[in-house]
Amino acid sequence: MHSLCHLARIPRLLLSRTLSTRTSNQREKIVVLGTGWGGFNLAQSLPTRTNLNVISPSNHFVFTPLLPSTAVGTLEFRAIQECVRTLPSVNNFFQAKAVSIDFKKKKVLCEDIWEHSDAKNSNFTVSYDKLVIGLGVKTNTFNTPNVASREVFFLKHLHHARSIRNRTIEMFEIAALPDTSEEEKRRLLSFVIVGGGPTSCEYASELHDFLTTDLVTLYPKLGPYVKVTLVEAGPALLGPFESGLRDYVMRLFRKRKIDVRVDTAVTSVEVFNKPNYGFEATKAMLSNGEELEFGTMVWSAGLSPVKCTDSLDLEKSEQGRILTDNYLRVLGHEGSVWAIGDCAVMNDKPLPQLAQVAQQQAQYVAHIISGKKGDTDSEFNFFSLGSMASVGGGKGIYDGSHVGDPYGLEAMLPRMKGVLAWIAWRSAYWGKQVSLANKFLIPMYWFKSWAFGRDISKF
Ligand SMILES: Cc1cc2nc3c(=O)[nH]c(=O)nc-3n(C[C@H](O)[C@H](O)[C@H](O)COP(=O)(O)OP(=O)(O)OC[C@H]3O[C@@H](n4cnc5c(N)ncnc54)[C@H](O)[C@@H]3O)c2cc1C
Repeated sequence: MHSLCHLARIPRLLLSRTLSTRTSNQREKIVVLGTGWGGFNLAQSLPTRTNLNVISPSNHFVFTPLLPSTAVGTLEFRAIQECVRTLPSVNNFFQAKAVSIDFKKKKVLCEDIWEHSDAKNSNFTVSYDKLVIGLGVKTNTFNTPNVASREVFFLKHLHHARSIRNRTIEMFEIAALPDTSEEEKRRLLSFVIVGGGPTSCEYASELHDFLTTDLVTLYPKLGPYVKVTLVEAGPALLGPFESGLRDYVMRLFRKRKIDVRVDTAVTSVEVFNKPNYGFEATKAMLSNGEELEFGTMVWSAGLSPVKCTDSLDLEKSEQGRILTDNYLRVLGHEGSVWAIGDCAVMNDKPLPQLAQVAQQQAQYVAHIISGKKGDTDSEFNFFSLGSMASVGGGKGIYDGSHVGDPYGLEAMLPRMKGVLAWIAWRSAYWGKQVSLANKFLIPMYWFKSWAFGRDISKF
């Protein structure tokens, strides 16, 4: 037992040795903004000797494709994140927000994220020789009234998933109280999911599994009051997928009694009171004039730039994404500033806002920064691996119709649906895990939730 403990410490010891032998001060100073798919993968792909400085309000990377699973407890939160300080290439990490960039003086103005006693955040600057912007995006509320209120949940960060999970359990506990009226039970247990993209559909599927396998057995009297509604402003769910797969998911959702409303938008959210309600209530006003009372709304309907990206005096696309050339260099700052991931777009070859795009861009820029190739040796070419989603009940979809380079050669791999696609989804995302710890934890939690159910303790 004792010797096993020593063995477990070996990776940590090796890491600390690497850290202590760094001599980075004389080297070019690289600054990376963001620790998402772009920033984290860049830091991971750079060698240890890099003078790398990372700035981000999150000190960890979130494996976003598995985030909907944590919102219901199929997986636990810590199993899908990686702390950025564990990466040997990271010389300095500042848990702070970049506020603006002085491109002439090559300085990033930052603001810390902590609550100070004088209610003022402290500012500091970080200079750079080379800068990589990987700021990501935030959820777009399209200025819909009251969506930014505490009654509506987003699904982008781990703390969002934790809030959704706690809220779901809270709604069931309140509905189970003896004084809760029938009408209020119905409202509390009404879940509205806004947006018909892969994130919303995966969350709707996870929620359905959670409701039908765990909550309905733990709260047997409440089953008849539960309702899940998915609202999409466009004509169909799962826009990026081939139509046969979209129809398959639509049929699955109908069978599961998920109320799917396409061509319908949420125009506002209103807070109201009713005499027979013990709690302040919320309802969604829909574009077709309907009113939908709900207990939980999860909004995952669009993307918009974060404040820092907005503030940068750079050329941007109509959607506010930073324009780059085909080498991912920011227009007007070639050779010193690159932009990757969701916050950026190539002027001539626009690509979708996807994890696989951000990851490949990060690896491309890492080669340039580490000197493995020159900054204009070869253009960035995206290689699409296809699109996949888990749709609950041990089923998934995989669309391989556009595998390859969307601006070059594309192959047509078979489409898959059902159990096989779900196994492919789980295997692919398990294989993509960075740390050995998460490679162990994830299958353990999958087994635990399948064999013993999801945990519904709220704390
Ligand atoms: C729930 C969910 C599921 C998804 N599933 C898939 C999927 O299955 N497949 C797929 O391809 N894509 C998926 N995506 C999309 C994918 O996550 C994004 O395309 C990807 O995260 C983009 O990477 P990024 O590095 O550009 O941005 P992000 O990963 O969002 O990272 C942005 C980083 O910037 C930081 N940041 C923000 N503001 C500042 C600031 N002012 N200063 C410094 N740092 C800042 C953030 O904290 C974060 O660390 C999913 C997204 C979500 C939300």
